[in-house]
Amino acid sequence: MTTTTITHWAGGAPYSGTSDRRSDVTNPATGQVTGRLTLASASDAEYVIAKAKAATAQWRATSLARRTRVVFAFRELLNARRAELAALITAEHGKVFSDAEGEIARGQEVVEFACGIAHLLKGGHSEGVSTGVDVHSKRDPLGVVGIISPFNFPAMVPMWFFPIAIAAGNTVVLKPSEKDPSAAIWIARLWKEAGLPDGVFNVLQGDKEAVDALLRSPDVEAISFVGSTPIAQYVYEEAAKHGKRVQALGGAKNHMVVLPDADLELAADAAVSAGYGSAGERCMAISVVVAVGSAGDELVARIADRTRTLVIGDGSSPASSEREADMGPLVTRAHRDRVASFIESGERAGAKVVIDGRTAVARGAEGGFWLGPTLFDHVSTGMEIYREEIFGPVLSVIRVDSYDEAIAVINSNPYGNGTAVFTNDGGAARRFEADVKVGMIGVNVPVPVPVAYYSFGGWKNSLFGDTHAHGTEGVHFFTRGKVVTTRWSDPARRQQGGLELGFPRND
Ligand code: NAD
Repeated sequence: MTTTTITHWAGGAPYSGTSDRRSDVTNPATGQVTGRLTLASASDAEYVIAKAKAATAQWRATSLARRTRVVFAFRELLNARRAELAALITAEHGKVFSDAEGEIARGQEVVEFACGIAHLLKGGHSEGVSTGVDVHSKRDPLGVVGIISPFNFPAMVPMWFFPIAIAAGNTVVLKPSEKDPSAAIWIARLWKEAGLPDGVFNVLQGDKEAVDALLRSPDVEAISFVGSTPIAQYVYEEAAKHGKRVQALGGAKNHMVVLPDADLELAADAAVSAGYGSAGERCMAISVVVAVGSAGDELVARIADRTRTLVIGDGSSPASSEREADMGPLVTRAHRDRVASFIESGERAGAKVVIDGRTAVARGAEGGFWLGPTLFDHVSTGMEIYREEIFGPVLSVIRVDSYDEAIAVINSNPYGNGTAVFTNDGGAARRFEADVKVGMIGVNVPVPVPVAYYSFGGWKNSLFGDTHAHGTEGVHFFTRGKVVTTRWSDPARRQQGGLELGFPRND
């Protein structure tokens, strides 16, 4: 088995750095080491940030037409070569090929949104606010921006940010997860092919040392972070302490409420797809089903029936004669073992194990990090499996007697990323939408990830900062407003300015 060396990308070329720290990248479906990743030292980070800084003046001075053309070219290349990137994601993350293609498609939506940057950056203009005085507003790019991303969406999450940041005239340093770092380098090469000037998009590989260098560098203006809640909070505080604009998206525990009048077939399909897709390693995965009143028994039976049909296996693109696996392995052995220990904890705490993923048989290599889908019933909010974000294929069912109890469960949870309600009662859905303290809500839609022209972000411990990702909030995050007040006197009636030491008044 050959291993590749994965480096940084700075100033339009691979950069090996000076640090001798390395980490292994594994294929989760085989357990084999496939790459050796270069981990940045603080001085490597300085080098990469300096390349980004050196490119800022020229890029921000590049016309909107030219910048947009490069983003369009990137979109075309990405669309044409999506399968290459998807294969790379499956090989390092483990998610099945079609799911990897899906994450690229959702990221591509943001690239398409950023193609309209000329419209999005238009300011306002008011003529004659005072005699001979006009006002216009505009939005300037920030400079160098840092993006720090998690392992679970190595392409989509960076794409929530960099298309808009770049189109708006910023330069970018992306710090991907050390678990699946190759997608970022592939993307860097694609930008070069699309005609992006060297230094506008850079990749810094590494761990905490690289992150801290970005958070503390005086040359980095803003940080977009996505990852677990404790690190999101740390990044938010540390970046703010160093004077940066910061949005830090954290972890989640997403509840799906099923009211007694819901279409239980639809609800069961949704719970299984949203609970076990990508092996539950999605920040918008459903991890808790809240069954209200009489919905419980039938719903659990239907979820269990569907879960038993799932195929667990190597997610790489299957031969045309073969059915693709539904669910791949977990990202690392350590994470697989951690999720398995949560299953033990749930069992010990007295939750009913309806399906035990530890006994599942996978269609794949013996060394893979396999864990089948697990279904718990009669989970209570005091149990560890409810309190913690498991981030694996474990679905818990909580039974409650009333709608109000369901709302109380959701609103007492410290996270507020996504939630869904399944019902055929429009009035109940409308009330749900108003009652929950959560950022993204689905009505008969289990994974309500907003389209690119709306913004993505949760409430409470799921987001530190006040700006969500992409959409117009994304454009605001990556630009700073200016308002210009201009006076030109009428050439037909030139006047002396005259002294006026009082506060300027408009008339
Ligand atoms: P993570 O917090 O371990 O890592 C995220 C990033 O932070 C990585 O780039 C990592 O290198 C870096 N990092 C890790 N430890 C650090 C430390 N001590 N100091 C500084 N930087 C550090 O998250 P993960 O395991 O890669 O991703 C899964 C988590 O991300 C889950 O909690 C999931 O809910 C969350 N997530 C949230 C969203 C969202 O939109 N809210 C989206 C995707 C993932």
